[in-house]
Amino acid sequence: MNETPRARGQDARTPPPLRIQVDHMRCAGNAMCLELAPGVFAHNHWRQSEVVDPEGDTLEDVLEAAGNCPTSAITVSDAVTGEKLFP
Ligand code: SF4
Repeated sequence: MNETPRARGQDARTPPPLRIQVDHMRCAGNAMCLELAPGVFAHNHWRQSEVVDPEGDTLEDVLEAAGNCPTSAITVSDAVTGEKLFP
């Protein structure tokens, strides 16, 4: 049986539980985040980014995507502690 990173829990690729939000008032739909963290972000019907799986990529990939969003639409925090991880 194949285990997903989520099922393994402690896999090195699995980030801590994250709360990732996309501000749709800011998202310009240029898909940068989809390129950098394709397991986390996907476009909706309006070509705006949505979080489809907060555990779909590494924390590093999520932070890189957030940091490269041209409109600063992405915020990231630790879902357990509430610590703000980006910006
Ligand atoms: S990188 Fe930013 S502006 Fe571009 S699709 Fe993602 S959230 Fe929207």
